[in-house]
Amino acid sequence: MNNHVLEFRNVWKTYHVGDDLVNALAGLDLTLDEGSFTAVMGPSGSGKSTFLHVAGILDTPTMGLCRINGMETIKLSTKEQARLRRNEIGFIFQRFNLMSQLTSLENVMLSMIEKDSQKAKEVLDKMGLEGKYNKRPTQLSGGEQQRVAIARALVNNPSIILADEPTGELDTKNAKSIMQILRDLNQNDGVSIVVVTHNPDAANFADEIVHMSDGKIVNMTSK
Ligand code: ADP
Ligand code: MG
Repeated sequence: MNNHVLEFRNVWKTYHVGDDLVNALAGLDLTLDEGSFTAVMGPSGSGKSTFLHVAGILDTPTMGLCRINGMETIKLSTKEQARLRRNEIGFIFQRFNLMSQLTSLENVMLSMIEKDSQKAKEVLDKMGLEGKYNKRPTQLSGGEQQRVAIARALVNNPSIILADEPTGELDTKNAKSIMQILRDLNQNDGVSIVVVTHNPDAANFADEIVHMSDGKIVNMTSK
């Protein structure tokens, strides 16, 4: 039997906005196997980012069961949650979220649990960024910045990568190359990947495509 990297059962996330309640997640059910590669699609406001934030323990569910690698996240202490997040989860964002005053190498090192510049360089090399160690984000193209961000996400050997519209700011060619990097990480290194995207071409790199609407999974297709 497959181990589950992610298990969501009847998960709700309710935000208070003024006097209103917004159900960003409204009974979301999803189970992903270790080593899976899943694209999440759906209209703006359907809860895709909230889902990634709860999955990555950046946010807590209001109700429901969330397990990462079999561990129920709300039962962990804050410290254990932080450890799980650092050791097992890599995040990639649409706008890269690099520290602008730091070099590529420093950005990657900053996230490292055990500081090891040799290892940081190896991960940057793997992203095709040899020779760019000392560049700051403004000295890099969008595609290069996103590859630094992927290196940062990978540097602690996570079991899962959560990517929120990672190609949203990129042109077609760079978008394709970022998706191919994720595809290779999944295939060669067995990293589980969840990627939110609006782009059907990007989604096609994944093995499964789930569609969200109003805080729920409404459809799931496997290749
Ligand atoms: P998506 O990523 O699919 O565009 P989000 O997860 O960002 O959707 O948002 C889902 C719903 O939750 C939206 O209605 C959004 O306005 C609301 N929402 C998200 N985050 C917050 C927040 N921090 N406070 C209040 N409402 C939020
Ligand atoms: Mg979003």
